[in-house]
Amino acid sequence: MEMSKPQKYTARVSDKYFLTENEKFVYLKFELVLPDRIEYKAGQYVSIKINEVGERRSYSIASTSSDNHGFHLIVEVVGEGKGSNFLKNLEIGQEIEALAPMGQFVIKETSKKMLFVATGSGIVPIWSMINDLLINKKETRQMRLHWGMRNEEDLFFVDDLNQLSQEHPNFVFDIVLSKPSEEWDLCNGHVQDCLRRDFSSGLNDWEAYVCGRPEIVIEIVNTLSELKMNPENIYHEKF
Ligand SMILES: Cc1cc2nc3c(=O)[nH]c(=O)nc-3n(C[C@H](O)[C@H](O)[C@H](O)COP(=O)(O)OP(=O)(O)OC[C@H]3O[C@@H](n4cnc5c(N)ncnc54)[C@H](O)[C@@H]3O)c2cc1C
Repeated sequence: MEMSKPQKYTARVSDKYFLTENEKFVYLKFELVLPDRIEYKAGQYVSIKINEVGERRSYSIASTSSDNHGFHLIVEVVGEGKGSNFLKNLEIGQEIEALAPMGQFVIKETSKKMLFVATGSGIVPIWSMINDLLINKKETRQMRLHWGMRNEEDLFFVDDLNQLSQEHPNFVFDIVLSKPSEEWDLCNGHVQDCLRRDFSSGLNDWEAYVCGRPEIVIEIVNTLSELKMNPENIYHEKF
């Protein structure tokens, strides 16, 4: 598969807003200044210079390559984290330096059914992949998403996911909350528990794209192997 080589970009913030009332997840839109065009694949990321010392942090691209004049990011604000707070505090019009596109976590050319498993901000590359497949590529293969989050206050994109699944019957999603309120009557616990519940008959004709924090990715990959998914068909990105 042809991948573009990473290059240095200057990009300007063109929009920024919080996705959740608790201000934990921020959506940022960047337009390219120089060079002014980019080619990337859904699932790839950008490496952003976050200070004058030259420290960098990686952020997956939330948008799809149908827009080649810029990219969108979704950032989980992590306590006093340097990178996430740098991005959270950017103002519209400010410029950043980014290396892009980076990474190999992209959709493979196969004919298998696709299972996406994300936890927390691990949804970002998967969001780009699902939109690219359903909207740009008109994919008709069966696609499932399991997205693990902590509680209702952290959720975003639920209306968009509902709309995607209504418009594309081959796409079904489940949100799994580890600490839901008493009113939550859908999946709760860990994503691994819901995978075991939903795929008890095995996953040998599926492939998986998994993204989240490293220790959770390892647990999910082990669960998928338990469910008879061939390890060669499991692709992952660790945040
Ligand atoms: C390929 C790749 C793509 C990524 N894409 C995204 C993305 O799309 N969106 C996104 O928000 N992040 C993404 N990340 C994570 C991101 O690069 C940073 O690691 C993250 O924003 C924390 O960096 P920081 O500088 O804010 O915190 P740091 O100053 O590096 O760390 C602060 C403290 O927070 C802890 N910490 C780090 N991450 C988390 C977390 N998620 N939850 C709780 N505690 C944490 C650290 O262990 C540390 O103790 C990605 C990482 C990789 C490797």
